Amino acid sequence: MNLQRLSNKVFYFPNPVNIGVIQTEDGYIFVDSGIDESVSRKLVRLLDRPPKYLLNTHSHADHCGGNDFLKRKYNVEVFAPETEAALIENPILEPFYLFGARPPRDLLTKFLMASPSHVDRVVVPGRYELAGSEIEVIALPGHSLNQVGFAVDGILFCADAVFGRETIEKHKIPVVYDLESFFETLSFLEGTGYDLYVPSHGTPTGDVVELTLLNRSVLEHLLHTMLGALKAPLTTDELMEKVFRCFEVEVKGLVQFFLLRTTIQACLSYLYDKGEIEVDFSKSIPVWKIRPAG
Ligand SMILES: [Zn+2]
Repeated sequence: MNLQRLSNKVFYFPNPVNIGVIQTEDGYIFVDSGIDESVSRKLVRLLDRPPKYLLNTHSHADHCGGNDFLKRKYNVEVFAPETEAALIENPILEPFYLFGARPPRDLLTKFLMASPSHVDRVVVPGRYELAGSEIEVIALPGHSLNQVGFAVDGILFCADAVFGRETIEKHKIPVVYDLESFFETLSFLEGTGYDLYVPSHGTPTGDVVELTLLNRSVLEHLLHTMLGALKAPLTTDELMEKVFRCFEVEVKGLVQFFLLRTTIQACLSYLYDKGEIEVDFSKSIPVWKIRPAG
């Protein structure tokens, strides 16, 4: 796949995880690095000069798997948001937080655990001047602990704040860490006016509202399905089984299961904190059900 031009100096490399490429007078800036070094290698071969900077939107392994290679080979300066930077530097934390203990070997692969790499600079939302280009760091929390997007030249690399239609059709349930923040980020995006939005999983679009509506409706349908199921008391596993059947999700392994479970847990925590469901421990495990009104 070739580089796709988005503006005079902004490109993206279409991939299962799109990589942003910004041309500057001082070398290239990448936005994320793909799932492993092979993606970064392919991308570098298409360029006339080496990359100089790397901006990470968040720490998920499919976004920072090429960091280590780009750092070793080109000594890129890596920028990442707070907390996400700590996870990029300590990649065992991703399978650990998904599993809750030392993860079984199926979770210790490149899909959930990148090679460790150093982050040079922690970024916070605001404007940065980088190699003659003005780049704005935009807070886009909800999908991960502290995800950000990067805006340049009227183009917002919006990471996993919204997922493209094909990605949603494929996975059925998107990965969400904090549902409330995810919804707030969708509303925030609807109020912005960038010329183009580049989701990491999907194709660039000028109409972000089409994507925010789609993403919101999937999660609202998920909440609705969970509340319907919880009219009868259910353990988390029983609830997941019902939800997966309803969404026609076929779970084939531990990686898929624990990613999906993240979103189910995010919904449980959202509904519990809003007082819509309650938990019972009479069987010594959490059993959830709708909280009676009144
Ligand atoms: Zn992600």
